[in-house]
Amino acid sequence: MPYEVLARKWRPQVFEDVIGQEHITQTLVNAIRTGRLAHAYIFGGPRGVGKTSVARIFAKAINCTEGEPGIPCNQCRSCHEITEGKSVDVQEIDGASNRGIDEIRELRENAKYMPSASPYRIYIIDEVHMLTLPAFNALLKTLEEPPPHVKFIFATTESHKVPITILSRCQRFDFKRIPLPKIVAILEKICKHEDVHIKTTGLSMIAREAEGSMRDAESLLDQVISFAGQTVLDSQVPEILGIIDRGLIFESSSAIIEGASPRCLAVVEKVYNQGYDIKEFYRALMAQFRNLLVSLIAPGKHLIDMSESDKEEIKHQAEMAGEEKLQIVLNFLIVRENDLRFTSYPRLVLETTMIKLCSLGGYLSFGDIMKKMAVLEERVISLSPEQTRENGKPLSDPPSDWIPNVKEVAPDIASMGKVDAEKSNPTDLKLQPDKSVSGEKTWEDFLQFVFGKSK
Ligand SMILES: [Zn+2]
Repeated sequence: MPYEVLARKWRPQVFEDVIGQEHITQTLVNAIRTGRLAHAYIFGGPRGVGKTSVARIFAKAINCTEGEPGIPCNQCRSCHEITEGKSVDVQEIDGASNRGIDEIRELRENAKYMPSASPYRIYIIDEVHMLTLPAFNALLKTLEEPPPHVKFIFATTESHKVPITILSRCQRFDFKRIPLPKIVAILEKICKHEDVHIKTTGLSMIAREAEGSMRDAESLLDQVISFAGQTVLDSQVPEILGIIDRGLIFESSSAIIEGASPRCLAVVEKVYNQGYDIKEFYRALMAQFRNLLVSLIAPGKHLIDMSESDKEEIKHQAEMAGEEKLQIVLNFLIVRENDLRFTSYPRLVLETTMIKLCSLGGYLSFGDIMKKMAVLEERVISLSPEQTRENGKPLSDPPSDWIPNVKEVAPDIASMGKVDAEKSNPTDLKLQPDKSVSGEKTWEDFLQFVFGKSK
């Protein structure tokens, strides 16, 4: 018997086997049970999440006369023919290769005839957004006055490309990406059945790569099994799939948070030597900082697809960095991604970016600056009118905790270009620091520093 790929072999044949789309399958079953069938449906959503499978099961359920309402028996002739793609009453059309007006005209002609051996004539048009505009217009005519024995099921990965006139005549269902734990559960079931030994951590890696697509996950599992055989080690999975080693990503984020540029350079060296795509590594690094940030903002919300041990490490690193720093790093990474896209030296861009990120550690956070400003503002407000008129004197003594921070704040303000050269011209200001005030030297130094910068 020829080998059948997992995605085909494990294609769901009843609504119950479709995972992650319960909101849709339940509605469709109810529609059949209550006899409230629309004449056209459109299934939108990412690839590999079950649109075509659901369309076929739905077609079977509509035309099956033997099973319970809403549940295809998968035994009768109609069910068999649909499964094998041989049914004359259920036609599956690929919108990408039959996109012209002639094909749709032909479909319209055929739709006039009664079904040969089933209650309905059903047209499943996959990738319907690929049809040309004249083809859509021809289709619209049929949708406006559909023969009672005809049903349409459209599937598309890009609903927004389907004309609104078509959409408004269909019942629309949006398919979701399948959550990682559900994909892992299905992969586990498949492995058990196929007698393949692989740990949950290995399957999680595969599921993460699939990005919510069951079909992709099954294809990747196929790939892994055909390379490693019936026993797959966790260490083999990243190698086979070309996934970047988690250890490298964690080492990078740790080095950036701790401001250790030599370690960053060592990571880039490894990334380069192991032949990883630098752009892919960069994306993984962005995802890592996104996860770090999410773990602080919404802990326990299941927004991070990771193993438990990885989550622990994420939590540890995130707490060390703090929310503001993570936000700065992530924003910086997002902004610099463009540079990486157009450079012919991706390694150089990666190195400079990571070194720059290391130096972010010394910056005062925005929150800290705001706190200091609030303290200053309070002091200005609390000044008596007499004091305000005495322009020659400093507003008040600097507080004791101000002094050690002066050097820290000053370079920041200067580098941010906030010092307006005209307004801070020393000739306009008649500030004459009172020498008798304690701590006057530091205050004077600070003013001189600001004047110096603005010249
Ligand atoms: Zn049947």
